[in-house]
Amino acid sequence: MRKVDFILPTSYMQNETVSFLQKWLEVEGKISYAGDIGDALTLANQSNRDVMLALEEKIDGYDLKYFFDECKGHTSRAMSYEINVGQKLFFPQIGENILGSDYHDGFALRNIYYFSSRKKPFPASVNRLIPIPVFKNSFQTSKKYPVLFLDRDGIINEDVGYLHKPEDLKIFPDIMPIIKRANEKQVLVIVLTNQSGVARGMFKEEDVNLINRTLNDQLKHRGVRVDAFYNSLFFESGKIEFYKKKSLLRKPLPGLLLKAAVDFPINIHRSFMVGDKTSDQLNMPGLRSLIVKGNYDISGTEHCFNNLKEVHEYLRQELY
Ligand SMILES: [Mg+2]
Repeated sequence: MRKVDFILPTSYMQNETVSFLQKWLEVEGKISYAGDIGDALTLANQSNRDVMLALEEKIDGYDLKYFFDECKGHTSRAMSYEINVGQKLFFPQIGENILGSDYHDGFALRNIYYFSSRKKPFPASVNRLIPIPVFKNSFQTSKKYPVLFLDRDGIINEDVGYLHKPEDLKIFPDIMPIIKRANEKQVLVIVLTNQSGVARGMFKEEDVNLINRTLNDQLKHRGVRVDAFYNSLFFESGKIEFYKKKSLLRKPLPGLLLKAAVDFPINIHRSFMVGDKTSDQLNMPGLRSLIVKGNYDISGTEHCFNNLKEVHEYLRQELY
């Protein structure tokens, strides 16, 4: 059991919830309650141990276990993905407040901190920010599954450049055993795809959905299944006003993955992303991205593979 002191909101937490939380996070330590961040920091500085401080009123809405594991003993602060956050916008890499209304989504900072006892006194502002998944249900304790996240064009089907006609859909035969094995081993298969063609005015959202449906029908026909598709339609240099925006849904930012994490119980540390561009290396702590050589320059990329067969071999060792 790791020893970590807890500081929790006065008004919300009940004893049963706290003991449940400790069991879930596999920690033990002193528990204190605070009404605001000032009180909490004072209490935190009295502790000799690492401290987890969670002053959100509804902390059961966040994947605290993921956050806790990802902190790895370093002073960190949680943030979550939100749609329409207005002015409260943050980028994960730099933690800088980005003002402006041309974003339709963003990260909101949460009053959930991990303080390392090596760094005292504890600061009110923490620059090491970790995006954390939000739960649909309170304390998602059911089993969490590893996910095989797949890019679409260039991984499942041939990248013909802004694919939007079902007749141009050509599935790579070598992706079939990869998906089949995931289906057999209870690994969810979720497609995360940037489709800036919508923002560029080349096709519409319905066209993207039609391709996804056709693709899934063809895959089902061959005996394999994709569990869900998530599309990013935004592009800041696009033409169509509504989609001409910066968005955290656009890979390599992790908005699409965090959206998927609301809908599915995902174990991020056991999951993989497979893509064919450097932008498929998602900026999500704990997730491993595998990049396959295809139509794009991927020099300097870690975890490169020459083809899907090599990816399959690797996944058979590491995932399933
Ligand atoms: Mg691709």
